[in-house]
Amino acid sequence: MLSWEQMPATDQSHRRCDDSERSPDWLRQRAWVEIDRSALAANIRQIKTRLSPQTALMAVVKADAYGHGAITVSQTVLEAGAEWLGVATLPEGIELRKAGISAPILILGATYTPEQVRALVHWKLQPTICTPKQALVFAEVLTEFEESLPVHLKIDTGMSRLGTPWQEAIEFVRMVAGLSQFKIASVYSHFATADDRDSTVMNQQNDRFKRVLSQIADAGISIPRLHIANSAATLADSNLHYDMVRVGLAVYGLYPAEHLRGAIDLRPVLQVKARVTQVKTIPTGTGVSYGYKFIADRPTRIAIVGIGYADGVPRNLSDRLKVILRDRLVPQIGAITMDQLILDVSTIPDVEVGEVVTLLGTQGNQHIWADDWATTLGTISWEILCGFKHRLPRIVQ
Ligand SMILES: *Cc1c(COP(=O)(O)O)cnc(C)c1O
Repeated sequence: MLSWEQMPATDQSHRRCDDSERSPDWLRQRAWVEIDRSALAANIRQIKTRLSPQTALMAVVKADAYGHGAITVSQTVLEAGAEWLGVATLPEGIELRKAGISAPILILGATYTPEQVRALVHWKLQPTICTPKQALVFAEVLTEFEESLPVHLKIDTGMSRLGTPWQEAIEFVRMVAGLSQFKIASVYSHFATADDRDSTVMNQQNDRFKRVLSQIADAGISIPRLHIANSAATLADSNLHYDMVRVGLAVYGLYPAEHLRGAIDLRPVLQVKARVTQVKTIPTGTGVSYGYKFIADRPTRIAIVGIGYADGVPRNLSDRLKVILRDRLVPQIGAITMDQLILDVSTIPDVEVGEVVTLLGTQGNQHIWADDWATTLGTISWEILCGFKHRLPRIVQ
């Protein structure tokens, strides 16, 4: 155990240090996230069983690796066989370089200021170029440097987000190919509906991508790497793999759609646990938590748990959440508050302070994963996972 003087000032201050410096006992005091590195590695190996040897695997680790911790995740997936990392922002890329990660890193989001260009060069990070105008800004700044910068050209084939529209793509690619400041590392696009069971739109986007690729070939420009598939497209159709796939959600062990469940064998990586902090019995008619959304219709044994919406448990799950306690599902009652929530433990009246409750994860025969919460809430599991990147200490196993 650490002495009181050494204890971190905030729950997550350990994230800036080496996890091993902190005692897991300290981190497990109130509520915490557990990250299973062996599940991560197993997911990478599973995904690779779907890829031909010529197809590289980019693990997408944006948003602090979907709330799992970007540095730990990056190190683990690279050891397990991923070749590339994808992040959304420049600071996310710099964080990985500062941690000593040397694998190629693509910034999937847009960078466009001269300061960002200099930082990209300095940290050997590879940008996405989305428009001819952005290319010109980059080219101007790059005259300060001797080496050409590897860049990835983004074509909009129907997502209507970043990228040059596919109808204008050939002029864009020609222009960048003509600038000596650049080395085109890849041409890529992104699907809007890859998780739909109906693949019509996805196939249309892929057809547009192929049309651009044949125009590029006709222009005599050779591109070392082409890619378009996210997790859903990677699992759905091997014709979409090209030279690389960009996989996020599946790396973390969740299926991007119900109909893709079981396409490969994935194991969820993140579990969320918290401790009971008080237990008591309330009489019939007693209101529970803010707004009295729950009023006891019988004497009710309740347990208070030290985790709330500021930790990543969405407040909209109030009165709809179930947690695992002693291998049993137990209902949460009343409003979820910022730092605490309340359970009806009438079925387990001898629950004690300090017992561990599993909010996301598995215990005995029970399991609850981010997709279960997402279904209840009418959102997607990606958003649930990202909710855990802020406050809770993370225990890496
Ligand atoms: C986030 C992202 C991905 C990964 O998506 P998943 O559905 O999580 O696999 C791939 N490509 C781009 C451009 C992205 O922004």
